[in-house]
Amino acid sequence: MDSPIRYDRIIRGGHVISASAAVRADVAIRGESVAALLPPGSPAEAGSVLDATGRLVLPGLIDSHVHFRMPGRTDQEDWAAGSRAAVAGGVTTVIDMPDTLPPLYTAQDARDKHRLVRYTSLVDYRFHAQVDPRRIEATAELTPREAASVKATLTGSAQATHVLRDPAALDRLFRVCAGGALPLLFHAEDDGVFTLLDGWLGVPRQYAGYERHRPRSAGIVAVYRLIELARRHGVPVHILHVSSREEVDLLCAGAAAGIPVTFEVTGHHLSFTSLDVSRLGARVRLSPALREPADQDRLWTAVIEGQAATLGSDHAPYRFADKSLAVPDAPPGLPGVQELLPAVFTGLRRRYTHLDAPGAARIVARLLAERPSELFGLAGRKGRIAPGMDADLVVFEPDRTWMLSPDDVHAKCGWSAYEGWTFTGGVQLTLRRGEVVYDRTDGVARFGGPAGRWLAPSPVAPDREILRT
Ligand SMILES: [Zn+2]
Repeated sequence: MDSPIRYDRIIRGGHVISASAAVRADVAIRGESVAALLPPGSPAEAGSVLDATGRLVLPGLIDSHVHFRMPGRTDQEDWAAGSRAAVAGGVTTVIDMPDTLPPLYTAQDARDKHRLVRYTSLVDYRFHAQVDPRRIEATAELTPREAASVKATLTGSAQATHVLRDPAALDRLFRVCAGGALPLLFHAEDDGVFTLLDGWLGVPRQYAGYERHRPRSAGIVAVYRLIELARRHGVPVHILHVSSREEVDLLCAGAAAGIPVTFEVTGHHLSFTSLDVSRLGARVRLSPALREPADQDRLWTAVIEGQAATLGSDHAPYRFADKSLAVPDAPPGLPGVQELLPAVFTGLRRRYTHLDAPGAARIVARLLAERPSELFGLAGRKGRIAPGMDADLVVFEPDRTWMLSPDDVHAKCGWSAYEGWTFTGGVQLTLRRGEVVYDRTDGVARFGGPAGRWLAPSPVAPDREILRT
């Protein structure tokens, strides 16, 4: 009789989730890759066997929108803490935003950032690059090796030098990027709308009525302009953190007309509304602001119907002392990479009671694994559980009910807008390329080694890094 095939690790008995199916299977891992999906109970041997009976096995999530603050803003967050929060939330790959100090404008900036990040990250990573408003043409020099996209930020603090305010420069950016290899990412709120309103109403001084100062109109104006530019130049555009029903409808109409536009919805816009602002105050001072319940309903519809391309955390932590400044000075942003999966899964289960746990997990797999892997050049190695793919896996307990306390928060800032929330479903184990990097099986969080890699765009040999220096 042949001896059974031997693997390094097998995860037995779980429901293996993809965007299109949930099947009972054992996941066999060899080295850093998925070696096989086996019928449950197959007579294979392994160095280590993890029991996932009654649990879901999801592909490691890709959060394409985090601000891990390196370099220059590590008083707010750093890669060690941010990546602990990530793996605790089932995220195994992040794509980090470029609005650091200094911003990531060039290929050299990306290599310099990698040198800071390596040996500190539990998760694999790529970087978004920032459009330099003073050097629009330099954007053309970036390639997919260094950057997953080029991001333009259309509004922000008056001191921020990376904000692109000039409409003529925006037009030039599309001309420069036409025919290029990188998608354009946008924080799409029109700064002129806010300036006009601030001149009339004054800057916001309290959280009650905050949305009136940072209204949907700024997003609608910007989103329409970007759809029109995408149409004219044929440049793919991905709109971040869409917050209103009007923006969603415009983007769906644009996509239906064949214009290359996609969009992201954040966990916090799915979890909070303007009704929460006077209670939670600075914790939910956000950019874009929280909208009305009817907007939140539309965002959920975009998630469940697949109109949204990605979910992102927009993990943008600030120290509580900074958030506690007077309203005009309190920076917008919250930590969210750890809370994203439980918040979305909980919302899906509560809003759509016809969805069973595997059905809700399939939606998560589509928007947090498959689609971002396709949009950001990782489809050859991330985003699905299949032979040859990286063994990035999440063992998820769909029925665990738990309350988030400040002790659970791994982000460096140590607070969460979700404190006191009761979640349905939680992460038990997270594996990054076959290594257990998060394990709370016995109720205590344990973390693996900071061997996260800077990922080259696929297709590449699965074990290749961009830099080996
Ligand atoms: Zn952001």
